[in-house]
Amino acid sequence: MKERTLILLKPDAVQRAIIGELLQRFEKTGLKIIGLKMVQATDAIAGEHYANDEAWLLSVGEKTKKSYESKGLKLDKTPHELGQNVRQMLIAFLKSSPTVAVCLEGHGAIEKIRSVIGSTAPIAATPGTIRGDYSLDSYQLADTKRRAITNLVHASDSKDNAEREIKIWFKSDELCPYERVDEFLLYG
Ligand code: ADP
Ligand code: MG
Repeated sequence: MKERTLILLKPDAVQRAIIGELLQRFEKTGLKIIGLKMVQATDAIAGEHYANDEAWLLSVGEKTKKSYESKGLKLDKTPHELGQNVRQMLIAFLKSSPTVAVCLEGHGAIEKIRSVIGSTAPIAATPGTIRGDYSLDSYQLADTKRRAITNLVHASDSKDNAEREIKIWFKSDELCPYERVDEFLLYG
C-alpha cells in the first residue's frame, strides 16, 4: 500500500517560480511528501536519471515518431537515434538550472501522479493536469529548437523505476517517514 514515487520539478518549473503551486497540487492528492530537496544536477546525476537504457531510448523514440505520424509528418531517424538525441538534450536541460526532487508516498502513488501531471507533450495534455495547465510545448516546437520538451515535471512510471530514481536523488536518511493527521480519513 505504501508505494513511493519520484517527482522532479524540472528547471523550467523552478525558473517560472511555480514550485509552491506544483507542490500544493501533489500534497492535495493525499499523497505524503517524505523527501524534498533542491539539487543542481551534474552530468553524473542527470545521466544516471535519464539512463542509457535501450528500452527507454526506444520508447522515447517510438513516442516521438507516433506524435509526428499523428500529424502526417515523418522523421528519418530510427527510434534509437531519436532516443539518444532526446537523452542528450534532457541531460543538458536538467543541468541548466536547479531542480527540485520530491519523494511522495501513498496508495497508488505512481499511477496517481502520472495522471496528475498529464501526457508528455503539454500541447495535447488534458486541462487540469499540470502539463495541460502550465505549458504549451510540443514535440515539433522542441525539435525545431533542438531542445528538450519543457513540460515542468518528471514522474516515475513504474515501481522499479521509482525505486531506482529515488536512490539517485535521495540518501536513505534524507527520507522522513511519518504519519499525516488526515490519513485516517484518506485510508479509512
Ligand atoms: P514522460 O516525461 O512523460 O515520461 P518520456 O519518458 O517519453 O516522457 O520522455 C522523457 C522526457 O523527454 C519528456 O518529459 C520530455 O521532456 C523529453 N522528450 C521526450 N521526447 C522528446 C522529443 N522528441 N524532443 C524533445 N524532448 C523530448
Ligand atoms: Mg518517462
